[in-house]
Amino acid sequence: MEIKIIPCLQDNYSYLIIDKKNDTACVIDPSEAEPVIEYLENNKIKLKCILNTHHHYDHVGGNQELKKKYDASVIGYKGDKERIPEIDILINDQENWIYKNFEAKIIYIPGHTLGHICFYFHKEESVFTGDTLFSLGCGRIFEGSYSQMFNSLMKLKKLPENTKIYCGHEYTKKNSDFCLAYDANNENLKAKINDIDIKLKAGLPTIPSTIKDELECNIFLRSSNVETFSKLRDLKDDF
Ligand code: ZN
Ligand code: FE
Repeated sequence: MEIKIIPCLQDNYSYLIIDKKNDTACVIDPSEAEPVIEYLENNKIKLKCILNTHHHYDHVGGNQELKKKYDASVIGYKGDKERIPEIDILINDQENWIYKNFEAKIIYIPGHTLGHICFYFHKEESVFTGDTLFSLGCGRIFEGSYSQMFNSLMKLKKLPENTKIYCGHEYTKKNSDFCLAYDANNENLKAKINDIDIKLKAGLPTIPSTIKDELECNIFLRSSNVETFSKLRDLKDDF
C-alpha cells in the first residue's frame, strides 16, 4: 500500500491509500473531487471506497462526484448517517473495517464533532485523524465537550509511537507558534519546528507526523488533565 497526499482547497489534505498490486484505492476525506480524479486518472487507479472522518463540507465535498464517477462506496460513522452525503456503509467504534486488501480499525473520537472517527490502518502503521489531532495541535471543539475531546486525544496517545499521523489540514506552522509560546523550553519542539520550516520552504507538506513526535511536542497531547487541556484550548481559540 502506498499513501498519497492530495492537497485540496486552501489548506486541506485528502489522502489516497493505494493498493499497487490491483491499481485500486480508497480516499480519505475528499474535500473536493477534482484533484483526486486528476491523480487517479493520471495513474490509472480505480477508486473503490470513500472514507469520511466527519461530516464537515471540507471533508466530504467530493463524495457525490467521486461516488458517481467510480461507483465507489461511501463509508462513515453510523451516528452521522444523516449528515454524510451519499453514505452507503455505516461503521461503528472499534469495528475492524475490511474491503479486499484494505483494513482499518475504527476509533470513535468525538469532540470536534459528535460523529468524528479516525481510521487506523494498523498494517500501514498509519492513522487518519481528520480534524481531531493535528500536527502540534488539535481541532476546535464545535459540538462535543472539553472532556470528550481530551478523552479522544488520550485514545490516540495510546497508539504505537511509530504510527504515522495523517490529519485533515496543513495547520502545523501556526500550531507550532502556539506550542512554542507556552512551552518555550521544549528542545524536541524546537527541533521539530526546524524540520517543519525546511519542509515548508521546499513546498512540501509537514504531514505525516508521528505519535512519538506529537507526544514530545504537541502541547495538547502533553496536557495531563482536562483542566489544563481546556485552558489551552481556550487560549488557542484566541491565539
Ligand atoms: Zn472539521
Ligand atoms: Fe476541516
